Amino acid sequence: MTNVADTKLYDILGVSPSASENELKKAYRKLAKEYHPDKNPNAGDKFKEISFAYEVLTNPEKKELYDRYGEQGLREGGGGGPGMDDIFSHIFGGGLFGFMGGQGRSRNGGRRRGEDMVHPLKVSLEDLYNGKTTKLQLSKNVLCSTCNGQGGKTGAVQKCSTCRGRGMRIMIRQLAPGMVQQMQSVCTDCNGEGEVISEKDRCKKCEGKKVVKEVKILEVHVDKGMRHGQKITFGGEADQAPGMEPGDIVLVLQEKEHETFKRDGHDLHMIHKIGLVEALCGFQFTLKHLDGRQIVVKYPAGKVIEPGSVRVVRGEGMPQYRNPFEKGDLFIKFEVQFPDNNWISPEKLKELEDLLPVRSDPPVVTGDTEEVDLQDFDVNQSSGGSHRREAYNDSSDEEGGHHGPGVQCAHQ
Ligand SMILES: [Zn+2]
Ligand SMILES: [Zn+2]
Repeated sequence: MTNVADTKLYDILGVSPSASENELKKAYRKLAKEYHPDKNPNAGDKFKEISFAYEVLTNPEKKELYDRYGEQGLREGGGGGPGMDDIFSHIFGGGLFGFMGGQGRSRNGGRRRGEDMVHPLKVSLEDLYNGKTTKLQLSKNVLCSTCNGQGGKTGAVQKCSTCRGRGMRIMIRQLAPGMVQQMQSVCTDCNGEGEVISEKDRCKKCEGKKVVKEVKILEVHVDKGMRHGQKITFGGEADQAPGMEPGDIVLVLQEKEHETFKRDGHDLHMIHKIGLVEALCGFQFTLKHLDGRQIVVKYPAGKVIEPGSVRVVRGEGMPQYRNPFEKGDLFIKFEVQFPDNNWISPEKLKELEDLLPVRSDPPVVTGDTEEVDLQDFDVNQSSGGSHRREAYNDSSDEEGGHHGPGVQCAHQ
C-alpha cells in the first residue's frame, strides 16, 4: 500500500500512486499523444500538465518529495525553478507561496532575493528610430506599510503551535490494529508558513499576509537606436516579500516587422520597384522615412540601374544608440519591371533598336547546325522539372562548361 500526501499528479496521468515506472510511461505516452498541441490545439495547458506530472513522477528525488510533502515539497525541493510558477498555480491552484516567486537567489551577504520579472515589450521600428516614452501599468506585491511587513503588531507573530513552526503536519491514522498510515500535509493552521498571528493582533490592512497588491506605473524610455532584444531594467521593482530583496523588472524589446524597411544593425534596407524607362533614363521618387520626413531620392538621366542592383543613401539609416546624431546608411535594392510581350509595334521596335546599344556580332557557325525553340518557363512551376534540370546540368558539365546565356555554371 502506498501512502502519499497528494495524488493530483497521479490523477493527471490517470494512474494510482502505486503505479510502476512502466505504467507511468505508458499512461504518459497515451495522453501525450492525445493532447499534444500539434494534434489538439484546444487542449489548453493539458499537455503541459501531463509533461510536468510525468517529469516529477519519473524523477526519484522529486517523486519522493512530492509523495511525502505534496505540492510544497516540490516547491521547496527545487521543483519550482523559473517559469514553473505558472504550471504550479495551474495544477495546484493560486499560490500559498505565490509571492515568493520561486527560488530566492542570494545576493548581498546571503539575503534572499526575489525573482526578476521579465516582460517582452513590443516596439515599432519608428519607436526605435525616434525614441519613445511609454507608461506601463503593473500590479505587484509590496510590503504592507501599516504593519511594516510584519503581518501584525510587533511581537504578534507566534510560532505555529500545531506544526511547531515547520509548516508541515504529520497525521497518523490507524487503518487496522497494528497498521497505521502516516501522512504529511501542509499545516492548515498556518497555511504552511510555520507562524500564526492571533486574530486580534492581525494587521487589518493586509490581513496578516504582510504584503498588499499595488498598482504601479513605470515610465519606460525607449532610446533612439535601441535594438531588438535589448533590456531595460528597473532595479528592485519586482514583487516584494518579507525578508527578501526584491528582484528587478526587466523589459526585453521586441522589434516589430516594418512593411518598408528591414534593419541590419545601424543600416536600413529596402526594395524599390522601377520600370525599364526609369532604369535607363533616370528617375526620382519620394519615400516616407521613419520620422515622417518625405525624402526625395533622385537618380540622374544617363545613369543606368541594373535589375537587382543596390544603391546607398549615406546617413539615412538608424541612429546609433547613445550617439543618435550618427546614423547608419539606407540601402535600396532595385527591382526592374520589364514591359509585357507585344508592348510595342514592330515598326516602333525597329526605331527602338536603332536607339539602343548595337547588337554584338552573331557568332560564326561552321559545320552541322540545328535550330531550336526557346519556350516560356516558370521557375516556380517546375513541370516534372527537377529531372529535366538535373539532366540539363549534367550534360552541360560534360560539355566542359560551355553555356549559352542565362545558364549557371557550376564551376564558377
Ligand atoms: Zn499589514
Ligand atoms: Zn502550522
